Amino acid sequence: MSLSNQQPNTPHQDVSIKKVFDVEEVRKDFPILQRQVHGNPLVYLDSGASAQKPQSVIDVIARYYSEQHANIHRGVHHLSQEATQAYEDAREIIRKYINAEHSHEVLFTKGTTDSINLVASSFGRKFLNEGDEVIISALEHHSNIVPWQMVCEERGASMKVIPINQAGELDMVAFESLLSNRTRLVAVTHVSNSLGTVTPVDKIIELSHGKNIPVLLDGAQAVPHMHIDVQAMDVDFYAFSGHKIFGPTGVGILYGKEALLNQMPPYQGGGDMIEKVTFEKTTYNTLPHKFEAGTPNIVGGIGLGAAITYFIQFDEQSILDHEQDILHYATEQLSQIQGVKFIGTATNKASVISFLIEGSHPFDVGTLLDQQGIAVRTGHHCTQPLMDFYGIPGTVRASFAIYNNRADVDALVAGVKRAASMLL
Ligand code: PMP
Repeated sequence: MSLSNQQPNTPHQDVSIKKVFDVEEVRKDFPILQRQVHGNPLVYLDSGASAQKPQSVIDVIARYYSEQHANIHRGVHHLSQEATQAYEDAREIIRKYINAEHSHEVLFTKGTTDSINLVASSFGRKFLNEGDEVIISALEHHSNIVPWQMVCEERGASMKVIPINQAGELDMVAFESLLSNRTRLVAVTHVSNSLGTVTPVDKIIELSHGKNIPVLLDGAQAVPHMHIDVQAMDVDFYAFSGHKIFGPTGVGILYGKEALLNQMPPYQGGGDMIEKVTFEKTTYNTLPHKFEAGTPNIVGGIGLGAAITYFIQFDEQSILDHEQDILHYATEQLSQIQGVKFIGTATNKASVISFLIEGSHPFDVGTLLDQQGIAVRTGHHCTQPLMDFYGIPGTVRASFAIYNNRADVDALVAGVKRAASMLL
C-alpha cells in the first residue's frame, strides 16, 4: 500500500474514499519494521515517544531535497515558489485534517513543546497578570507544566492542578470548583502519554467556556489515534508534534482561533514575521507569519503533510477498532503474568499500557526486553509529578500504533515473562 509513486503533498488528492485497514499491509509501508535488533526482529512499542515513518513520507523528504529545495516565501525564482507551494499545500492538508476554519490558524512550530511555549509566552504576556490563574492537570507532560510555571512566575500568576483518581482519571468535580473569575486559561492533555487516559475534553471545554475561559489541549498523544476536529470541539488552542503522527521530528502544529491569535503579540522576532522594520519601530506580518519567525523546517512541514495524507487514507473507525483490540488483548495477556501491576486503568484509554513488575526496577525490565528486540519506554516519561502521585520512580510503557499487531503483543508478553523470571 505504499504511496511512493503518488504525490502525497498535494492537498487536492481525493481522500474521501478510505482504504480498508489491514495491519499486515500497513506494516509493509514502514521499512524499519523489517530490521533486526540484537539478532531479533524489531518489536517497536515506543510510538508514544516517536512513531516510525512510512515509505511515502521518506520518499517525499528525499524528493524535496533532491528536486525542490530552496528557501520559501521570499524568492521570485521557480524553485523558491515550488518549495513555498509545497509548504503551504502541507499547511492546507493539516488544516483540513483538523478541520480548522482558516489555514492561517494553523501555525508551524518545532513540536508540541514549542507550540505550548508559544502560547505560554505570547498569551501569558498579554493576558496573565498578578493574581491570575492557569489550570492544568495532574496528568501533564513536563512540556505542559514548565512553560506555565515560568510565565506564572514572571507575571505573578499561579497554577492550579486538577487532581486525578487512582485509575488516572481527572476529578471533574474538583475541576469545576477550580474554575474561578481569576482563571485565564485551562491547559490540559487530550491523552496522557504515561497512562493513556483520554480526558473528557468536551466537558472541560464546555465548563471553561461557560466562564469565558479559553482552553488549550495538548494533543501530542491524541492526534495519532483519533480524529481531531477543532471546530466541533470548539477548542481555542490545539498543540501536536509531527513525529508522533508518522512525520518528521522538529516540526509540529499550534492551532489557534484567529481572534485569539490576532490579539497575541509575536513569540519570536526575526525574518518573515515582519511587515516593516525601521530602527524606531517594527510592524508585524499577518497570521500565520507573525508567529513563524525565521526560515522554518520546510521539509518537516512538507513531510508532516505527507504523513497526514498517509494516515487519512484509512477509515478512522477501523484504526480505532484495531488499536483498541491491541490494547485490550495486551492488557488481558499481561494481567495473567504474576507480579505485573498496571499503572493507569482509566475506562477511556488510548493504546498505551504502563506497568511494573513488582519488586523490580523499570529500567531492568526495559533492558531485558531490549535484549529481545522489544523497544519499550522506561522511566518517568516526562511526568514526574504524576509518578510522585503513584509513589513510583517510573513505569515500563508499551505504546501501540497502527502498525502493531497481535504478534507484537505476544512477543511483549513472552519478553515480560522472561524478564520476570530473571528478575524475581
Ligand atoms: N505532551 C505530551 C502528552 C507528550 O507525550 C509529548 C512527547 N512525549 C509532549 C507533550 C512533547 O512533545 P515534543 O517532545 O514532540 O515537543
